[in-house]
Amino acid sequence: MLIIGLTGGIGSGKTTVAKLFEKYGIPVYYSDIEAKKLMNRSKIIKRKLISKFGEEVYKDKYLNRPFLASIIFNDKDALNYVSQVVHPKVAQHFKRWINKQKAPFVIQENAILFENGSYKNMDKIITVTAPLKTKINRVINRDKTTKKQVLERMKNQLTDDEKTKKSDFVINNIDLADTKKQVEQIYLQLLK
Ligand code: ATP
Repeated sequence: MLIIGLTGGIGSGKTTVAKLFEKYGIPVYYSDIEAKKLMNRSKIIKRKLISKFGEEVYKDKYLNRPFLASIIFNDKDALNYVSQVVHPKVAQHFKRWINKQKAPFVIQENAILFENGSYKNMDKIITVTAPLKTKINRVINRDKTTKKQVLERMKNQLTDDEKTKKSDFVINNIDLADTKKQVEQIYLQLLK
């Protein structure tokens, strides 16, 4: 079974594209959602985060997200530490998830596929792109946030150019009807 990585910058439309593949019956693993679940569930993650950041990082058994966010916001080392703790658990969980799927290929949707090294485990990579202005406006509308905050979140991600160079397929997601056509073509190609 082929393992396909699906990535793209914030607001590019990764989730939108992932849902289009799901319509063809392709199983999609949403890394961010699974990572969040594992951070609440995994005893190892919990132990490591508490030993580094203190008891306050969990509250009533659940990750204290605002507390952790406030630490990692301006501390790259802390952010790297969290990634190094969470990433192996997500990778392990993804492997077990693959074994339960029955499909010609599966997709891992991951905003930081290149940044965290997961791309090495993929057979093919799809990057979703859109113009910077479009991405910013989409996120402002979706998350009711400000341009400044969106740019702040974009800071830690590679540029589209760096991502597309390392990709097998690029989906330019501007007009949705056009995106659907691009998805269909990639789907058909991956079936071959
Ligand atoms: P993030 O990394 O922030 O989770 P994402 O890359 O997964 O973002 P989406 O959530 O799919 O992006 O899209 C961002 C917003 O833009 C959503 O509200 C979505 O409905 C909208 N959107 C995505 N693609 C299009 C499109 N082609 N036309 C119009 N709106 C779109």
